Amino acid sequence: MPSDSPIPWFDNFTGIAYRYYDLRMNLIPLFGDFKKAQAFWRETIKWWNDHSIKIRFVETGDTYWFIMGAESRKTEDNRFLFKVLPKSSHYDRFKKGQEGTAYLRLGTYSKKSKKDVKDDWPCNCGHIKEDHEEGKGNDSCLFEDCDCRKFETFQINMLKKKKTVTDIKFLTEAEIKDDVLAWNCFSVNKYAEKK
Ligand SMILES: [Zn+2]
Ligand SMILES: [Zn+2]
Repeated sequence: MPSDSPIPWFDNFTGIAYRYYDLRMNLIPLFGDFKKAQAFWRETIKWWNDHSIKIRFVETGDTYWFIMGAESRKTEDNRFLFKVLPKSSHYDRFKKGQEGTAYLRLGTYSKKSKKDVKDDWPCNCGHIKEDHEEGKGNDSCLFEDCDCRKFETFQINMLKKKKTVTDIKFLTEAEIKDDVLAWNCFSVNKYAEKK
């Protein structure tokens, strides 16, 4: 049963990773540490009915709003997630590849240094370690059309648990008034603050 009390909006996570695993796009909200991710799953996402999970993306210039909510079997602890994030190549790839469905998992993000990874490990620029200069203080990418000046990479660790999301939509800000979840999010987190 829907509750009358508004569901709180949660944005205390660091970002979203988008990855292709298990023959499906994976959407991974990232937390500062593994314990926090596990707690959020246990308290909130575990109780969501898979078929009711909705994800909305609303693009606003160079940024986009990520919005996610669902019906919960434990309404008193339910929370909806939102975050305003910069557009990225991973986001673009997800947008093209998702076909309206994805696995939802939670994870953590950790930076890795050049010496911790193998030669075929990708840099954030998309090119592998071997394609970067060797010398100390200079590890620029060797691809001429790439402006990467420093090998930087990170690792995503994911919780094993996952849920299947089948209701994903990309909306413009003009379209959100027809979408209950996106409208609720913008009303509370954007329009209400303007005053
Ligand atoms: Zn690079
Ligand atoms: Zn590069």
